[in-house]
Amino acid sequence: MGISTIASPFDSIIFDLDDTLYPSSTGIDKCVKKNIQLFLIQKCGFSESKALTQRVELFKTYGSTLAGLRAQGLDITAEDYHGLNFSFFSLRPSFVHGRLPYDSIDTDHQLRNLLLSIKQRKIVFTNSDRIHAMRALDRLGIKDCFEQIICFETINPNLPYSTRPDEFPILLKPSLDAFKIALDAANVDPRRTLFLDDSVRNIAAGKEMGLHTVLVGKTMKSKGADYAVESVHNLAQVIPEIWANEMDGGDPTMTRSKSELEAVLACALVGA
Ligand SMILES: [Mg+2]
Repeated sequence: MGISTIASPFDSIIFDLDDTLYPSSTGIDKCVKKNIQLFLIQKCGFSESKALTQRVELFKTYGSTLAGLRAQGLDITAEDYHGLNFSFFSLRPSFVHGRLPYDSIDTDHQLRNLLLSIKQRKIVFTNSDRIHAMRALDRLGIKDCFEQIICFETINPNLPYSTRPDEFPILLKPSLDAFKIALDAANVDPRRTLFLDDSVRNIAAGKEMGLHTVLVGKTMKSKGADYAVESVHNLAQVIPEIWANEMDGGDPTMTRSKSELEAVLACALVGA
């Protein structure tokens, strides 16, 4: 069987986490929103109806509720905020840990096989905090599939040292500054990197950074999207070039015969 001479256009693949590597149907996202509203009510003194509109408005304007609260001068720390998933309700012990329905994230063997079949560098880039990211990846059974997890703490390294709320504005996707820090931390060439995310805003920003972009969870491409996949599981059908061979002189670990490539794709497709 001859060796294909088609080179993969990608050296690295960057994956968003929430609603990209696992679907929103787990209910995690809904629960996070509910927790944020409770945080706004119990920690910031908003009324129930105001909490909903504030959450939506702050997200739209600042990229996250925490970023918005701090930009408005409230001295809410990241620990206070992210801890709402875990320890904020220590005053209500039944809520501590497991407040988010992590049990609804099942081990995803099909995704694991798919990721293991991809020989390029694989990196997670999420706005979520590290504890949440590790917990979700652990539930999915894919934590060891990635060489690097770039998360809230990576893109906001100075935040713990701030002396006032507006000293270090919080950076998150889709801010281009957040992307710059992430791409630098990952040490990737955006022109050789595929970026997957379920947010149309993040995809548009990723394109601006020169990344190849994949909108996840939709059938129609949005602005700046090179590809759209209904689910991350469909990568092999939509972007088979991920698995293309390296040209002569390339990384030998990425060299595959056509039959090997077909076997890998078949395996990824059926989730065997
Ligand atoms: Mg997401």
